[in-house]
Amino acid sequence: MAYVIIGNSAAGISAGEALRESDKTGEIVIISQEDSLPYYKYLLCDYISERLSHQEMLFKPREFYREKNIIPFLGEKVIHIDTDEKKILFENREFITYDKLLIASGVYPVTPRTPGHYLTAVYTLRSWEDAENILQTARRSERAVVMGGDITGYSVAHALLKLHLKVTLITDSDRILPHSLDERGSELIRDSIQNSNLEIIFKDEVADVVRHPLDNKLVGVGLSSGKEIVCQLLVLDKGNKADTSLVRGTDIKFNHGIEVNDKMETTVSSVYAAGDVAETWDIAFEGKKQNEGWYNAVSQGWVAGCNMAGTDSRYPGAIKINRVNFGVPFVSAGLINPNNEDLKWKVMVNEKSDSYRKILLKNGMIYGMIFIGDTKGADSIIALIKAKAKMEESTVLNLLI
Ligand SMILES: Cc1cc2nc3c(=O)[nH]c(=O)nc-3n(C[C@H](O)[C@H](O)[C@H](O)COP(=O)(O)OP(=O)(O)OC[C@H]3O[C@@H](n4cnc5c(N)ncnc54)[C@H](O)[C@@H]3O)c2cc1C
Repeated sequence: MAYVIIGNSAAGISAGEALRESDKTGEIVIISQEDSLPYYKYLLCDYISERLSHQEMLFKPREFYREKNIIPFLGEKVIHIDTDEKKILFENREFITYDKLLIASGVYPVTPRTPGHYLTAVYTLRSWEDAENILQTARRSERAVVMGGDITGYSVAHALLKLHLKVTLITDSDRILPHSLDERGSELIRDSIQNSNLEIIFKDEVADVVRHPLDNKLVGVGLSSGKEIVCQLLVLDKGNKADTSLVRGTDIKFNHGIEVNDKMETTVSSVYAAGDVAETWDIAFEGKKQNEGWYNAVSQGWVAGCNMAGTDSRYPGAIKINRVNFGVPFVSAGLINPNNEDLKWKVMVNEKSDSYRKILLKNGMIYGMIFIGDTKGADSIIALIKAKAKMEESTVLNLLI
């Protein structure tokens, strides 16, 4: 049996391990367009802030492939999948065939149509190479602009602060972290960064970049409001998208991500998808959703690998989790900004001077949570959301203390 996995990260590596556990002899190939050994992508901001080296971010050593008898194709970009002929085509026009294929290719950052986004000091953040470019440019810079006020933009801004840059975060929203926190949570985080070197500009966006007339280097940005900001580094975070190009022309169904069932099978036989690229059942949302998250990707990869090797395994569903450990720490999970018109919601809040804890219930079950400041017990609540456990309100009150 020939197994091919596109993706050498959370989902792909986990699938490779599950495959080898169930099938001791089949050929396993793992492909990545990046030439790095697998690394924890969620630590990229720790690399930018120089808290961790590249070596410390790796989660598998080179020996992993030899020990598991897996063939790594690193630095090789796949450009097309032919599901009729069961082969995948590389950028260099070579191809390999598969019996079972897993697509675990993640997402890529949306690049806004900012003029000049191709300049050397303008970056998005998804890979170690991006992080390296941002770090190198930051070392030569005094001021940076980060466009995008959700979790990646906020995390990059903090990493740059640690390098002693003056940072301006620009968001088109009227509040910070709108997809990770509720309104009160956003207010608390905004207040916590007042008097720091981080300035936030709301309801605005980068409309133009300003270059030095002699050497073309980035010297500032112009905002839609007309304001100009001096900077030598611009990081763009306008969210991510799953890449449709690989499955174009096939019968693999794609919505916001590749549609899969609970065995991680796509709509084409022998082709599976897992990780950020996949659209799976979401436990709190109670529907199919494309979710980004390291641990969701690891579990999905494992389930896909088991099923590819013929060991039945079912994925119970994903849950969206946001976790920040710097500044004022917070954890949020599940549904955090549910539809207010739905009267079935019961919202329980405990706010103190140094913490804000909120749990959202419906029909006696927890669907969402936000813990800011004091994040103790957050993982237990996340487990309860996943388990869809029926809870007495008095018990939930205890969880808020
Ligand atoms: C800055 C940042 C911070 C994050 N913070 C958190 C966090 O705090 N908590 C959390 O849970 N998650 C976080 N995440 C998200 C988390 O990293 C992802 O959910 C996780 O990496 C998804 O794993 P994956 O295996 O699906 O895809 P990825 O990790 O994106 O890996 C995709 C793989 O596919 C390969 N690939 C893609 N296209 C091709 C192609 N055409 N040909 C060959 N190879 C290809 C890539 O090289 C890579 O090996 C963060 C992500 C970033 C970027």
